[in-house]
Amino acid sequence: MSHRVTLIPGDGVGPEITQATRRVIEATGVAIEWEEALAGAEVFKTGDTSGVPQATVDSIARTGVALKGPLTTPVGFGEKSANVTLRKLFETYANLRPARQIPGVPTRYDGEGIDFIVVRENIEDLYAGVEYMESRDAAVALKIISRRGSEKIIRYAFELARREGRKKVTCATKSNILKLSEGLFQRVFEEMAPEYPEIEPQHLIIDNVAHQLVKDPAQFDVIVTTNLAGDIISDLASGLVGGLGFAASGNFGDEVAIFEAVHGSAPKYAGKNVINPTALILSSVLMLRYLGEAQAAQTVEDAVFVTLEEGKAVTLDVARQAGNVEQATSTSGFADSIIENLGRAPSVRYPTKSDGAPSTPLEPRPRWAARPAIVDTTQLVGVDIYAEHDADATATGRALEAVAGPDFKLQFVSARGTLVYPAANSNIDTVGWWRCRFVAAEEGAIVTDAGILGLIERVGAVMPWVHIQKLRLFEGEEGFTRAQGQ
Ligand code: NAP
Repeated sequence: MSHRVTLIPGDGVGPEITQATRRVIEATGVAIEWEEALAGAEVFKTGDTSGVPQATVDSIARTGVALKGPLTTPVGFGEKSANVTLRKLFETYANLRPARQIPGVPTRYDGEGIDFIVVRENIEDLYAGVEYMESRDAAVALKIISRRGSEKIIRYAFELARREGRKKVTCATKSNILKLSEGLFQRVFEEMAPEYPEIEPQHLIIDNVAHQLVKDPAQFDVIVTTNLAGDIISDLASGLVGGLGFAASGNFGDEVAIFEAVHGSAPKYAGKNVINPTALILSSVLMLRYLGEAQAAQTVEDAVFVTLEEGKAVTLDVARQAGNVEQATSTSGFADSIIENLGRAPSVRYPTKSDGAPSTPLEPRPRWAARPAIVDTTQLVGVDIYAEHDADATATGRALEAVAGPDFKLQFVSARGTLVYPAANSNIDTVGWWRCRFVAAEEGAIVTDAGILGLIERVGAVMPWVHIQKLRLFEGEEGFTRAQGQ
């Protein structure tokens, strides 16, 4: 049976590594009809600011599977990441990044049995990319964590662990500081864990996970985490097992899967035919398993491992570590060696906690329950008005009190999250951007939208307000945080 796969060569070193990978897959005899498609820098140049043309979107919708080279994203300015756009367009909410010791790739952890998978939430969090300049000198980004988004990725992690016979799922969050957003992720994890009694659930704070990963990485099995944390610790994980040149990944949704190396477009090596293609070739092993070509997947993985183990062909990154740069093999030459080694098995097989990758899409595929209609059971208790004001905290607080009106009282003013009025602390450096919290003047009195609109107008007359946030109780629980020091 022939499979259809969208092939995106990508930017920088992308065309070299996708070409090498394609040649290796084709040499296994698996029949694939490749649909070549564009994304990234070349597309931005045409004036398409999404970086992903409709023809590419249509191709992936048709094939359901993409093998993708890295895409360059301007850093600190310019267009949004075409990678993130692709992940979001197809709701590939689960990003899997296995970390396992590879034969022939020496690391500081040789023989310790590293074999874990980072399951990274792939849609939400700061990657929602919703940012604002709140004043000329203060930027904010929204960190979005939803119950549904958390349920999807946490269920994915537990199902993966169950399918692969893994014993433990570690949920890594920053819920000690971000009690509502990261806290929601942790709460959903704790609610779902009893559905998987054979799997040990563990929650660790993400900074401790970073520490434990470096100290004793073999203790981990499956780590499920939010988007930004997952991005960082999966790069760390790749460093434990040989570096970015070896780190594979897959992005999975209910209908579409996109396979890519963890690394980026490494522009300084573009066109030089020196980059290590192993990461993308190992990503294609995940793809072959996903396509149901388990035998071919094993054949490619074994051939990569034999090639690395024998060390007759080594790419520049590995040769550099061994101090013999002049012996380095080209990207295409390395692919040739892997092709020659198809059908051979490595002499060492490290014990694995499983086969390290999902062999099939989730079976049965979860059908996410339709969202219930929203019944508003919330209670409006106040409003945070964010304002720009070039004055000190006391002058700002007094100006706000003067316009609070009969229905509201100013509860506090905070600067960058810390209480500065009343009871201002002179050590606090303020930046002219304030959170001004108003609540009902009389305890328990009803706050209305009309009341808030009047208040905004009065505040706007004394200082420019930037945005507002309603303060609501959800089933009596505060749906907002207090100021540090309140
Ligand atoms: P990068 O492209 O991953 O490269 C960083 C360094 O990692 C390289 O200079 C090289 O280190 C090493 N490296 C990367 N790939 C390697 C490989 N296959 N073999 C051996 N070594 C490898 O990261 P970056 O320079 O920060 O990012 C460049 C561009 O890629 C940016 O525009 C970024 O946004 C984009 N990016 C895209 C993706 C994606 O498409 N999924 C992911 C990450 C970044 P040495 O210099 O030590 O040789």
